[in-house]
Amino acid sequence: MSIEKIKNKVRSVHDFPQKGIVFRDLTTVFKDPECLHELSILLTDLYKGKNITKIVGIESRGFIMGPILANNLGAGFIPMRKPGKLPADTWSESYDKEYGKDTIEIHKDALDSNDIIVLHDDLLATGGTMLAAYNLVKRFNPQKIYVNFIIELEFLKGRNVFPSEIEIEALIKY
Ligand code: IMP
Repeated sequence: MSIEKIKNKVRSVHDFPQKGIVFRDLTTVFKDPECLHELSILLTDLYKGKNITKIVGIESRGFIMGPILANNLGAGFIPMRKPGKLPADTWSESYDKEYGKDTIEIHKDALDSNDIIVLHDDLLATGGTMLAAYNLVKRFNPQKIYVNFIIELEFLKGRNVFPSEIEIEALIKY
């Protein structure tokens, strides 16, 4: 199965969550067993042989393929969550959204300087969420941080907010 076939399964919902937005919905990809399997292989192939030790998934849509990717690579899975959800000591990072601020958190003992990390979310829009996630993970001073999405909305140029040396992968582009 090709990336194009998976792309054809993505549902585009007009005017969600507000008028003028086309929401790219991956639930229609995840519900198809063949698509889910192929997506897991395509994501895994991007990072095979790179000695990845941890996948960090961003709440909540990064919690679907993140653990599958971690399992396929023999890596651990770390959830990065909205404020007040993680039970132990956390680091947090705030970032600007279109309306107001948002914050994400990670357990202080989630990662260490030996880790080789893939940061994973379903979709890259403006890049604000993932840049905050990247800055949070950088505090652990890991060996390397890769950035991964299933979908990239190229017209929003979210890629440009990251330092140019970061390896950013996205399977499906709009
Ligand atoms: P950004 O911070 O502007 O890059 O927005 C990315 C975040 O918003 C990710 O966590 C996505 O899950 C979510 N998001 C924004 N637009 C969409 C969409 O069209 N489909 C699914 N998630 C979206």
